[in-house]
Amino acid sequence: MAAAAPQSVKIARRGLMLVISSPSGAGKSTIARTLMDRDQHISLSVSVTTRPRRQSEIEGVHYHFVSQREFERLRDSDSLLEWAEVHGNYYGTPREAVETAMGEGRDMLFDIDWQGAQQLQEKMSADVVSIFILPPTMAELQSRLHRRAEDTEEVIQTRLNNSRAEIAHWREYDYVIVNDDLNSAFDAVQSIVKAERLRRDRRHGLFDFVEGLIA
Ligand code: ADP
Ligand code: 5GP
Repeated sequence: MAAAAPQSVKIARRGLMLVISSPSGAGKSTIARTLMDRDQHISLSVSVTTRPRRQSEIEGVHYHFVSQREFERLRDSDSLLEWAEVHGNYYGTPREAVETAMGEGRDMLFDIDWQGAQQLQEKMSADVVSIFILPPTMAELQSRLHRRAEDTEEVIQTRLNNSRAEIAHWREYDYVIVNDDLNSAFDAVQSIVKAERLRRDRRHGLFDFVEGLIA
C-alpha cells in the first residue's frame, strides 16, 4: 500500500490589514500593485475619491471615482471606515469590503495617507501592520512625479509642497523602507508580510493545534 501523502498543517489566523503610506511619487502604488500581482492571499481596498481619474486608471480597479456630493453621502451614512482630505481631494475606505474580508480571515492592503493610517490604527490596532515608504532623495521624488507624467505641473507642485509634512509622520509606522531600488524595496515588503502572518497572536488556530499535539 502506498504511503499517505504528507499533509501540510493549516493553522487558522486573523486577516492582516497592511497599510502602506508615502509622500506622493515615492512608489507605494507600484509596490502595492506588485504585491497584488504576486500574492493571491491579499486583496486591495479600493478607495472612493473625488479626485479626477488619471488616464491610466480604471473605475473600480484603482478607485471608485465619485462626486463630492456622493462622497459626503457615503461619509455621513458611516459607510467609510476612514476618510481624509489629501492634496485638496477627498479619499475614503469603504467599510463593507474591509469588514467582509476581515470576517473571512483574508488580508487587505490599504494605499492610504497618514491620516487614514492613524484612523485605522485607532480602530483596529490588533490587525494593522503599517509601512512607510521613503524616496532616496527629494530630487528623485520630484523626478518620479514628473516621470509618472499623469498629473499637471500644478498638481505635481502641490504634492511636492506637501511631501515634507507627510514625511514628518514616518515615526508613526511599524516599518520604514527607503525605495531606492524597487526590487529591494519590494523584497522588504514581502518579508514583512511573511513574518507578520506568522505572529503568534494572529494565529488563533494555534490553540487547537497545540492541544491536539500534546493530547
Ligand atoms: P506613489 O503611489 O507613491 O504616488 P508611484 O508608485 O505612482 O508612487 O510611483 C511614482 C513613479 O515612480 C512611477 O512612475 C513609478 O514607476 C516610479 N518608481 C517607483 N519606484 C521606483 C524606483 N525604485 N525607482 C525608480 N522609479 C520608481
Ligand atoms: P493619489 O491621488 O496619488 O492616488 O493619492 C493621493 C494620496 O491619497 C496618497 O497618499 C494615497 O495613499 C492617499 N489615499 C488614497 N486612498 C485613500 C483613502 O481611502 N484614505 C486616505 N486617508 N488616503 C487615501
